[in-house]
Amino acid sequence: MLKDGVEGPRTVSLEEARVVYVRPCVSEAGKVTASTRLTLDPALQPAPYGLFDADTLCLTLELTRHIGDVRCSPGLGTARITRDNRTLLVSKDGILNLRGAEDKDEAIDTIRALSRTLWGSAVCPACGNVGFDCLSGGCTECFESLCPLIKSGPPDMLEKHLGFDGETSVREALDRQNVTSHREKLGESLAHFDEATRRIARVAEGKPENDSLNAIKKDTKSAMRAALEHIVGTMNYRDAVLGFAFVGLGFDLDRIAHALGELSHMKHTSKAADAIELALKGYELFRTRRGPDPKLAERYSALRGIWSEAYTRTPDDRTLVWTLKALENALYISRLPELRLPS
Ligand SMILES: [Zn+2]
Repeated sequence: MLKDGVEGPRTVSLEEARVVYVRPCVSEAGKVTASTRLTLDPALQPAPYGLFDADTLCLTLELTRHIGDVRCSPGLGTARITRDNRTLLVSKDGILNLRGAEDKDEAIDTIRALSRTLWGSAVCPACGNVGFDCLSGGCTECFESLCPLIKSGPPDMLEKHLGFDGETSVREALDRQNVTSHREKLGESLAHFDEATRRIARVAEGKPENDSLNAIKKDTKSAMRAALEHIVGTMNYRDAVLGFAFVGLGFDLDRIAHALGELSHMKHTSKAADAIELALKGYELFRTRRGPDPKLAERYSALRGIWSEAYTRTPDDRTLVWTLKALENALYISRLPELRLPS
């Protein structure tokens, strides 16, 4: 069942029955209640502040609204999801309670699907970032070697976790799965990213369209939503994990849009033009799946040097904060195709 994922055979092994506590519902005859705790692979040292990052957990659930009516509190670190008379409570520590399921099989399927949805919201034991950030190109530790959070599979209720043996790159995975615009969930995601990056280019050129920044945020959200649907709905884990790079790209572009928004309030959008150009070249590399382009790394170093000089001269210039944010995220995007993925 671990191998087949959420769509696997609807049988429950004895091992699972031991870990998940299932009992008849007191309030509703014929229904069951299940409680369990999701954990990472025991070989990984979990973060002291919980399994999931509360903000990202809420953001992820907001993006996947189709799973039901979601109430999520980042402050309390708890979420409540209701759908078709079923109620699912989940805490940032991974404690999970499901009420109103038909039977044990349905309960386990529901828990597994939720665990896949929230996988990227878990805190990576290697670097302390959330999983989605590890796979955005933004985390140096998890860029050079495979992120252990993603490698060990989604948080689960079993002691035994999935483990990938092989390794590939985002570029190779894009090739293997032949991701093309508008085709399946990742293609849908790509089409939204195309739209977002087109709008970003217009803002950087000083020719923004109406309500550009909100439109960029909307496109990016739609792209991330489709990528999350890919992670949850794809049968085998090997194909599902490519979705993380797409959600990660959404995080990068969203931060760039945020920086552009701040700069536009200061009437200095053009200051980020070089960073945007680098981000768009990086996106093109992701899009075309060509091999690594060393010129992009050189360009980043040059721009970083210019930035440092400016900072030495005028450390109080607020626009520098936001140009740096745009520039760093441009770097993340430009190295995304070479990021390691489990296989
Ligand atoms: Zn990581």
